[in-house]
Amino acid sequence: MEKPWKALELLISTIIVLILLTIAYLVIRPTTQNVSVLPTIEPLPTFGIPPEVRARIDTVADTSNARYLCPEFTDVGPIQLATCVDCIYYAVDKLHALSPTYVPPLVTTKLPGGGRMRPEVDVALTALFAAAQRQGLYPTVTSAYRSFSEQSFTFQAWVATEKRNQITEAQAIARAARYSARAGHSEHQLGTAVDINCSGCVAFDTNDPRNIALWAFFEKNAQDYGFVVSYPRGIEALTGYQYEPWHLRYIGADMAKQLYNMGYITGNGICLANFLRVEQQQ
Ligand SMILES: [Zn+2]
Repeated sequence: MEKPWKALELLISTIIVLILLTIAYLVIRPTTQNVSVLPTIEPLPTFGIPPEVRARIDTVADTSNARYLCPEFTDVGPIQLATCVDCIYYAVDKLHALSPTYVPPLVTTKLPGGGRMRPEVDVALTALFAAAQRQGLYPTVTSAYRSFSEQSFTFQAWVATEKRNQITEAQAIARAARYSARAGHSEHQLGTAVDINCSGCVAFDTNDPRNIALWAFFEKNAQDYGFVVSYPRGIEALTGYQYEPWHLRYIGADMAKQLYNMGYITGNGICLANFLRVEQQQ
């Protein structure tokens, strides 16, 4: 009588194990499938000039300012390395880079948010902040000078953030490159560029009305203090960068006013990098 019972026990145990394995498989399988399915990714912009921007460019093309118009953005081509000793007005972009060893003269600003920048930039920015405060706006420096190695870290950190969306390395790099520069290609390494947000605002928050008011003030007035918005609205197809209202670069009041008076802030195709190149060839 013992043997048939043992056989039955074995059979029941086997059935129980099989049932447990089936349950485990059914529980694990959907999870595995979920992981392998990529979330919807926002499409990258089709690099092409939108019709309304094209219309503004065409208007400039008929004037003597046509030489300041920027060509359509490309990141395909040889990268030129700056040879300037003092690169304060160097036109850095995706094809023009600063040497890893380039470090400008720097001071630590006493402005809210702190950070390091060129001494003349600190003076001009202090005046710009005072003007904003007279309008009831309270700016703070979110980011100022970044060394080559700090920029390398910054860019890689954004790529890592993008990769949380389970996209490929190449896709993550392409997305990060729309708002962050690779090492050597950042205006922040010049010591003349600053990212500014309102005091108490979340950095780069484009929905906060306090940030919007501050950035609108800069777009109207920054040129009087020597600053321009490096990446204006509407011309990503030319600069390769999304609209960055928080990113100002110091180029001195004369050139800043000249650029402003040509309407660059309206996204008419005149961009900072080409303007600087044209001006410095003269
Ligand atoms: Zn910036």
